[in-house]
Amino acid sequence: MKSYDYIVIGGGSGGIASANRAGMYGQKVLLIEGKALGGTCVNVGCVPKKVMWQASEMLEMIHRDAPSYGITADVKNFDFTDLVTKREKYISFLHGAYQRGLDSNKVDVVTGYAKFVDAQTVAVGEEVFSAPHILIATGGRPSQMNIPGGEYAIDSDGFFAMTEKPASMIVLGAGYIAAELSGMAQQMGIKTTWAYRQGRPLRTFDPMLSDNLVEMYQDNGVTLCAEHVAKEIIKNEDNTFTVIFENGVSHTAEKVLFAGGRLPNTEKLGLEKMGVKLDDRGFIVVDKFQNTSVAGIYAVGDIIGKVDLTPVAIAAGRRLSERLFNGKTDLHLDYDLIPTVIFTHPPIATIGLTEEQTYEKYPDEKIKVYRSRFTPMYFALNDYRQKCEMKLICVGEEERIVGLHAIGVGVDEMLQGFAVAIKMGATKADFDNTVAIHPTGAEEFVTMR
Ligand code: FAD
Ligand code: NDP
Repeated sequence: MKSYDYIVIGGGSGGIASANRAGMYGQKVLLIEGKALGGTCVNVGCVPKKVMWQASEMLEMIHRDAPSYGITADVKNFDFTDLVTKREKYISFLHGAYQRGLDSNKVDVVTGYAKFVDAQTVAVGEEVFSAPHILIATGGRPSQMNIPGGEYAIDSDGFFAMTEKPASMIVLGAGYIAAELSGMAQQMGIKTTWAYRQGRPLRTFDPMLSDNLVEMYQDNGVTLCAEHVAKEIIKNEDNTFTVIFENGVSHTAEKVLFAGGRLPNTEKLGLEKMGVKLDDRGFIVVDKFQNTSVAGIYAVGDIIGKVDLTPVAIAAGRRLSERLFNGKTDLHLDYDLIPTVIFTHPPIATIGLTEEQTYEKYPDEKIKVYRSRFTPMYFALNDYRQKCEMKLICVGEEERIVGLHAIGVGVDEMLQGFAVAIKMGATKADFDNTVAIHPTGAEEFVTMR
């Protein structure tokens, strides 16, 4: 048996960040990864998604917007296969970069799936390793469609595994992934139908965002199907698939993609015998310090089912190592006011409470909502005048900003700075006192009346 100071199970965003930080403090660290360094984000998440989104943004710009500036661009070819090849090459480069980072912090890496033997021991095949501190950062995987023919649907992993562009695709689901992949598929020339169960997608976000997104996707040519619950998927003789919905409607396409949430990778870890507490969805229960119910075992990232975002996993993993190995005994991640961007067309940027959540949380306080809807100058010369819409939600006499939401060109790159201000407790007056930058879309946030 090999002994370490710290064992990290899962070489994704949270695991790598925590292992490196512990290594920086001279700890003897082992990182165990079952598949590929970088986890979901690098291999089948943020990275391939952003590359594809950028390509689809370029296509949108060339086809829809360039002519309004007098530019007639003739796209001779969009080689989907070439794009995927280059994307995967970039991902291989990232694997090397992660490995070099771990090497420089003297973190040992073992490839294989880890299983607990006891609270201080894990096995990878025949090899056994022990440590007084063990982090579980095993992330999640896409959930599968539980209807007849559900096995015919691909998931987001399957989307990124495609090397050839399908002619058409039906997207089922209503969250981040369905919204992002429907938008980029349509821009890439995949005839896209997006069907969701309820009246609107992205229901956990402020309705202003989904209302605008639905309108814009309609303009972009996506076929939107609200209140469509899939009942069955049938494989046709020509290798297309037909989705039959409970309302009797059916749609046929070359691919069906299901994006209805993610499941935790806990089952194969042997947690039951150790008494590590899981919630009713199978995610690991932790306290604010990322401690599980068993002393010396911690969990960060998607496996805790709280906020499934890469920077959240990284921040929690780093803070944990600072606490365990650098004497910062009270350091923990504050899960409030986490900014997030959905890479739709155009993007969505959001932080804090929705209007509804604000009224629920502050029933006795004065609440003021500021909104701005305008045509970004980017569209000044275009017949297509896509709007940008922004909202600030303020609470109390001092008008502290508790929610900021935006959809429109460029809002993805606007949010980070505003998030700093809001995290610091900014009020509407602070925004008003900041001189605008003109002409930008961001200036609307500091000039709202
Ligand atoms: P993961 O990154 O999933 O890493 C877990 C690792 O553990 C995996 O490599 C897995 O192979 C390994 N593992 C599992 N079980 C074992 C075991 N028993 N032994 C050893 N290894 C094991 N977030 C953003 O912030 N921005 C985005 O734009 C964004 N886009 C996304 C797009 C998609 C399509 C998806 C699916 C996710 C996206 N996310 C995005 C979310 C982000 O990818 C995750 O929140 C993040 O990867 C979580 O990190 P993690 O360390 O918890 O888990
Ligand atoms: P989400 O949790 O975002 O959304 C899933 C939604 O799909 C549900 O809320 C539900 O909405 C709908 N759904 C669930 N089951 C079914 C079903 N059987 N049939 C049809 N629809 C169903 O999950 P995603 O898979 O989209 O993404 C997982 C997480 O990954 C995200 O929450 C996010 O944290 C992260 N992510 C982040 C990104 C980013 O930062 N840009 C990008 C991609 C992912 P309803 O109840 O309304 O039907």
